[in-house]
Amino acid sequence: MTAHIPFDNSYAKLPDSFHARVLPASVAAPALIKLNHELALQLGLDPEALATQEGIEILAGKRIPDGADPIATAYAGHQFGQFVPQLGDGRAILLGEVVDRNGMRRDIQLKGSGPTPFSRRGDGRAALGPVLREYLISEAMAALGIPTTRALAAVTTGENVIRETMLPGAVFTRVASSHIRVGTFQFFLARRDGEGLRRLADYTIARHYPDAAGAPQPYRALLDAVIARQAALVARWLNVGFIHGVMNTDNMSIAGETIDYGPCAFMDTYDKETVFSSIDHAGRYAYARQPGIAHWNLARLAECLMPLIAEDKDKALEQANEALAAFPLIFKKAHEDGLRRKFGLFEEREGDAELMQALLDRMAVNKADFTLTFRRLCDAAASTEADGAVVRDLFIDPTAFDDWAVHWRERLALESQDAQARRDAMRRVNPAFIPRNHRVEAVIEAAVKTRDFVPFETLLAVLSKPYEDQPDFAHYADPPPPSQGMYQTFCGT
Ligand code: AMP
Ligand code: MG
Repeated sequence: MTAHIPFDNSYAKLPDSFHARVLPASVAAPALIKLNHELALQLGLDPEALATQEGIEILAGKRIPDGADPIATAYAGHQFGQFVPQLGDGRAILLGEVVDRNGMRRDIQLKGSGPTPFSRRGDGRAALGPVLREYLISEAMAALGIPTTRALAAVTTGENVIRETMLPGAVFTRVASSHIRVGTFQFFLARRDGEGLRRLADYTIARHYPDAAGAPQPYRALLDAVIARQAALVARWLNVGFIHGVMNTDNMSIAGETIDYGPCAFMDTYDKETVFSSIDHAGRYAYARQPGIAHWNLARLAECLMPLIAEDKDKALEQANEALAAFPLIFKKAHEDGLRRKFGLFEEREGDAELMQALLDRMAVNKADFTLTFRRLCDAAASTEADGAVVRDLFIDPTAFDDWAVHWRERLALESQDAQARRDAMRRVNPAFIPRNHRVEAVIEAAVKTRDFVPFETLLAVLSKPYEDQPDFAHYADPPPPSQGMYQTFCGT
């Protein structure tokens, strides 16, 4: 049995300015922590072979599989609003691409596999904690049905990495529709490399937005399509309480997937200002600022595409502005449609937005848990007798819910939907299980301190079925204990 990976590389064939050829560093003693069997099969890989010594060495970067063409990709980006003309994969190496069972081209990338020409002062390595964090949260997002990069594997290297303390080293295998970012376009604009920009745009259209190729203005169509996908993505984030935490332009995927799980986290009590990242002092990437930031990032993409859209600068600017003006509208529609489903509203009616906002406002004042409120609202929708007792308990002042619920029930009564069907539909969009911060931390602590991966496996399994009640694991739906206090997350590895 050999761990054959049917590579079909295309990004590596782009000109040298797009990437640097670099081999992963060899590591001392790779050991497998987790392999995503289901994803391996989807990619046309043999999970059993990947779990052999040979496969594990590939996943640790110790062995280069046949057909791989390892590269670190070049990109730039605005980090917290500051432009950095060269970032690039400093701790990641793209092994190559495969075409999956659905005919989709997917990148297979090792994260934490040693330095690259883009590492600057970094060591190119990853610590076990952040690797497990990315594994859990990206797979949770996938199970929630939100576009995301995926976790194929996590291995330990048998080596330590130096952070504030010595930590066990690990390599994460990330699968993505591609690793093209807004910052990839910015890289070429900053270098005034018009030909590079055009190559990148054409490549992106062919790989992600083939319909744009046939549009009257393909580059404008590309911009429109990326804007639409990002607006839809951020709407999905908001409706599950996800806070990305580091929405720099280099962390925004052109394919519209959630990427870069450094300081991200899900909010517990509903608060629009929620920020978890220890370095986001100004709250630039706070929960409710995410749509505005996405819009800002897309304006940076538009700047890159303008020279391709029209030679005449005024015309190009007009086109870019027109495309960008659509973002708030697409976002608002996606967000409200998503919310309507969360509230059990099947039809669109005047006053819905106000009704829904009224509950969110009350949740904020009453420190109600975001995920639990909506999950329990499903049951409240099915039974008028219970009158949402389980929901009202989540509010500091339960009458704040009661008052609102009167209006909600009046609104529900305007639709002919059967109560049970409404409850079922609501349960398919209001998860019971999200990666609660205190659970994620406990898993990491057990793994790092005692190499106990059982809690990781358990949490991962629970999160793989977020919309199902799992009575044995009901406590995994609980909010953090009050002792958690302010939760903080950290960037990078
Ligand atoms: P991020 O905050 O993950 O978006 O990373 C920003 C930039 O820093 C990217 O260019 C990364 O490749 C680089 N980087 C982050 N951590 C490391 C590391 N340990 N070694 C080398 N480069 C890194
Ligand atoms: Mg990044």
